[in-house]
Amino acid sequence: MTAARNPSLYVHVPFCASVCFYCDFFRQVYQKETADAWLDALEYELLHTEINDGLETIYIGGGTPSSLSESQLDRLLSLLDPYKIAISEYTVEVNPETLTQDKIDTLLMHGVNRVSIGLQSHDAALLKMMNRHHSFEDVSRLVNQFFACGLSNISLDLMYSLPNQTMESLQRSTELAVSLNPAHLSLYSLTIEENSVFGKQGVRPLDEDTEADMYEWICSYLSKHGYDHYEISNFARDGKESVHNTRIWEYEDFYGFGCGASGKDEKGRYDHPGTLKQYLKDPGARSYIYLTKEERMYESVMMGLRLSRGISRSRFEKRYGNDLTDVYPETIHSLCKEGMLILTEDRLSCSTHGFELLNNVLVRFMEEAEL
Ligand code: SF4
Repeated sequence: MTAARNPSLYVHVPFCASVCFYCDFFRQVYQKETADAWLDALEYELLHTEINDGLETIYIGGGTPSSLSESQLDRLLSLLDPYKIAISEYTVEVNPETLTQDKIDTLLMHGVNRVSIGLQSHDAALLKMMNRHHSFEDVSRLVNQFFACGLSNISLDLMYSLPNQTMESLQRSTELAVSLNPAHLSLYSLTIEENSVFGKQGVRPLDEDTEADMYEWICSYLSKHGYDHYEISNFARDGKESVHNTRIWEYEDFYGFGCGASGKDEKGRYDHPGTLKQYLKDPGARSYIYLTKEERMYESVMMGLRLSRGISRSRFEKRYGNDLTDVYPETIHSLCKEGMLILTEDRLSCSTHGFELLNNVLVRFMEEAEL
């Protein structure tokens, strides 16, 4: 395989201590022997892939990476040690049920400098309904443990539009999340996936108007409390944007390792097909979705307009040989006139109104691209 110049590397750990009822990610309940076999397969995959020097970010997500035992976590991070030389951001997703002080020490020893923690809500009844086995106090304790160890680049996940969630409950969750002083917050509305437990139970999220009110309230509250709304679902203080995810939204290439991970290169996107059993049998197997230039240009727009600063026109032109305004002349002209887009000499971005109606904006680009 020929190495592309990728700035980022993602590893998907497909294990969790238990399964949340809204989740249909690629994951299963942790078992020691299976996790050992998965680490063997991951080692094979890493050793048989040409990975370029100069990676900027590593992100270990899942699943729940902290559900691995301490020695397995140490092995995983040791496998990635050769690639961390130049990285500026090294993120691991963790949760309070599975993270011990020894595992925190292991993360720090290997250079992890950012963690992402799923808080979701402070409300014990909502957490129970989602089959999450932690409390707000558990998350608070974990955040303070990291602060005490000198790691302050912490991101918290919050969910809204949950069944039975009231505006007051959401407001309290947001206030409590901010009281922990995280550098970054990610916001997710509940989507009911067919294959999740909620999907099978026929659970419904809140109505669209309530969902929109909740989103608007959180955006306003976080901006008043010093968080920059830099991406449609993400907020950061003091320039602590997620470097890794920003590269993805900027449509840079990235390596994806482990079953459940996707990657991207200059030809298109790839997945690791099938089940964990198939991955253990053939860790090198990948299925490609080859993308035409038109498809890649559209995906660049789709990802880039998620960022409040939008898309760099010069970078787009360098990548595709065309100016954005030549590729989508009618859409850009009409959406600027309607106050949904802002076009400057070097950038194309959404206005506040366009950000709120991003899906509609993207449909207009898709229509002009005739995809
Ligand atoms: S939401 Fe996260 S922690 Fe919950 S089952 Fe899915 S991957 Fe695991």
